[in-house]
Amino acid sequence: MKTTLLGAPIDTLTMEESVEKVAGFIKSGQPHRVLTLNPEFLYRAQFDPELMEFARRAALVTPDGIGIVWACRMAGRRVVERVTGIDLMLSLVHRAANEGWRVYLLGAAPGVSEEAAGRLCQGYPGLQVAGTHQGYFSDEEAAGVAEIVRQTRPQLIFVALGAPKQEQWIDRYLEQTGASVAVGVGGSFDVIAG
Ligand code: UDP
Repeated sequence: MKTTLLGAPIDTLTMEESVEKVAGFIKSGQPHRVLTLNPEFLYRAQFDPELMEFARRAALVTPDGIGIVWACRMAGRRVVERVTGIDLMLSLVHRAANEGWRVYLLGAAPGVSEEAAGRLCQGYPGLQVAGTHQGYFSDEEAAGVAEIVRQTRPQLIFVALGAPKQEQWIDRYLEQTGASVAVGVGGSFDVIAG
């Protein structure tokens, strides 16, 4: 189910339902964008049509803020949970380890994505990390990064470049990577790497 809040579509789902939806995207083999919508992004989207387009083009928009959750509950009258980038990432990694999905970690300062991948492999045995790449590259290098990602054949990409840079990269390059799902996860790699 979907609702609309200040012009942005939001999927009124629980975490479990959101993960199930992503599983369907991965099975389809077609590219899908996932946006965790926080209040700051929704506010900025009121004045920035590009950001609103990212929300409209996403195959899944999760409510990432308690105010957004409340608004969804009132509009949709059903159970909705806050689904943040880090929580969604950890739930998806858990599922990925069970399903054998190949995941890629793109973003954060040099060394952080490798560290985060190492921690995740410890916490979720069997997790297949296709690769990692740091997040400080120029606009000229962005397409080359997509090509590096493509060569590792990931199915699910976590992009931690901060908003809205990560959404811009996903919008532009997801198809080129050949992956079925890309999720912008903000500062999650820093949190996981500790
Ligand atoms: N980052 C990056 N490349 C950049 C700018 C930021 O990889 O050009 C990373 C940064 O190291 C951090 C994350 O993106 O890991 C942004 O985290 P933040 O919590 O600021 O994201 P937000 O919650 O604002 O989306």
